[in-house]
Amino acid sequence: MRNVVIIGSGCAGNTAAIYAARAGLDPLVIKGIDVGGQLSWTTEVENFPGFPEGINGPELVDSMKRQAERFGAYFMDGSVLEADLSKRPFRLNIEGTWQETRTLIIASGASARWIGLPSEQALIGHGVSSCATCDGFFYKGKKIMVIGGGDSAMEEANFLTRFGSEVTLVHRSDTFRASKIMYERAQANSKIKFLTSTVVEEIHDVSLNTVTGVRLRNTLTNTTWNQEVDGFFVAIGHIPNTKVFRGQIETDADGYILSKGGARTSVEGVFHAGDVEDRIYRQAITASGAGCKAAIEVEKLLEAEGH
Ligand code: NAP
Repeated sequence: MRNVVIIGSGCAGNTAAIYAARAGLDPLVIKGIDVGGQLSWTTEVENFPGFPEGINGPELVDSMKRQAERFGAYFMDGSVLEADLSKRPFRLNIEGTWQETRTLIIASGASARWIGLPSEQALIGHGVSSCATCDGFFYKGKKIMVIGGGDSAMEEANFLTRFGSEVTLVHRSDTFRASKIMYERAQANSKIKFLTSTVVEEIHDVSLNTVTGVRLRNTLTNTTWNQEVDGFFVAIGHIPNTKVFRGQIETDADGYILSKGGARTSVEGVFHAGDVEDRIYRQAITASGAGCKAAIEVEKLLEAEGH
């Protein structure tokens, strides 16, 4: 029986682990498939306070892990395959072994949706990004491409015009899901060029380990052409990692956990931290803050219950 199990080893999970471990709760952290969370996909992080020269993403998240381990947190490989949150203690199937826990912190994150090209996967962190706030700064005076037709794509394209010499927004359809106001704002921005009914077939150049351009195809005419690009931003949505809790915990229609205030969820003893609940900010620092809140709530609950 554990006092607390933390699902996820990104900034939210690792920060929750630091606080829970320092509170003497011997937390068990289930690392998940994306060990280290989204930071492990990035290179340089320049906006996490405390690192004036910037810090490498995987290094930052690994140092959080080591900090938690120093106080007794235990990190376990694998993922939660099943969960029974119907009564306490909660039961979790971790790679075939059932674990009981008095409380649970879900910090399983939200994964960026990718187009699915092998060249895209190979160049993540080397010119391909899913976060304009994180990586836009690296493309000052450079050619930027944004993929998507929703609010995220409009917002990211607008934001990226602060840095790029030009921003091309590429959308596979000819109508936009984005809200009218966001779409009109992007349309009014003279630095954004729109390409509709257009798909990306290939990102160059995997052999150079950096983005140099893309091959595009117009789906109406089937014409293909190459275009030079330095930064390639994918903004086609996120998928919250809540599948194993479906039907047991309240989520919105897209699967994001619905917060019941602070870090509380609809199930007493289950708390949320990070992108699994937050579809707006999605930053390393906000995820860390949420992990801290969740651990403090766990500590308060266990104390009130006399554990
Ligand atoms: P979204 O609204 O689901 O839009 C996703 C877009 O990506 C769609 O245009 C879709 O194209 C495209 N897409 C999906 N899969 C693709 C693929 N494999 N290849 C190419 N394109 C693909 O997602 P979102 O923009 O991230 O927004 C999610 C939610 O957050 C929305 O409710 C949005 O309003 C909200 N949001 C709000 C703000 C704000 O208000 N400031 C900012 C960001 C997000 P199709 O249209 O062709 O399907």
